[in-house]
Amino acid sequence: MGKDPVNAPMIRHWCEAMGDTHPAYTGPDAIAPSTMLQVWTMGGLSGHGGGRSDAYDELLALLDRAGCTAVVATDCEQEYVRDLRPGDAITFDAVIESVSPRKTTKLGTGHFVTTRMDVRADGALVGTHRFRILKYAPARPRRTTPERPRPVINRDNAGFWDGVAAHRLLIQRCTGCGTLRFPWLPGCNTCGSGEWDTVASSGEGTVYSYVVMHHPSFPAFDPPYAVGLIELAEGVRMISNVVGVPYGEVRIGMPVRLDFVRVDEELELPVFRGGAG
Ligand code: ZN
Repeated sequence: MGKDPVNAPMIRHWCEAMGDTHPAYTGPDAIAPSTMLQVWTMGGLSGHGGGRSDAYDELLALLDRAGCTAVVATDCEQEYVRDLRPGDAITFDAVIESVSPRKTTKLGTGHFVTTRMDVRADGALVGTHRFRILKYAPARPRRTTPERPRPVINRDNAGFWDGVAAHRLLIQRCTGCGTLRFPWLPGCNTCGSGEWDTVASSGEGTVYSYVVMHHPSFPAFDPPYAVGLIELAEGVRMISNVVGVPYGEVRIGMPVRLDFVRVDEELELPVFRGGAG
């Protein structure tokens, strides 16, 4: 059973945390954002108590014993059947839906485990939540020089990285209300529209804020270096490295210009260059 029925305070906290001001989530006819589906099933710090079978823990223990000692969450899929409203009482159950055959990935060899949670309100299905992990035996690292982390490219942001490959910094623009957004998202936080096109940034910007990274040091990074929150001329902000000036000379308000640096054979990143030229 959900610990609390669907309720307005949790909806408000979620919307504030997400910056989602869509009017459907407030007022007397408010609905809960669909993406809150899992929220209503969470047990909080005190948990749900009994009623849960050991099947999942047993499965993970079996995979541990087979050498698949590492785990990484890979993806989550949700389907929404109907909107939830304050007062809806939630019940849910979860099953291990599938365990894949042995697969070899860059991380190592192991099995994808998919669990499916069915969420109900007053006994009727309102949505499903599928969650997939890879339980694997870590591959031995092949490289001795550490690699910069790779960006996670998915359907929601692939256009951004296509832009980077073409040396363009693309900003999403809602075709419903014209609001620009960055980073890329599947929908508009202002009007809720899922339709969008892009505008290419002029590349001009200023340092809105910054930090200088000294510690901790990560493999493949060479501190100290400056990380800037860059306000683009178009009005949106993005986080990026500030290059071309000593880290100690980066200042708020400093004009910077878009550039692209090649990190290695596979990875090119947008950065912002300060200083003359
Ligand atoms: Zn919009």
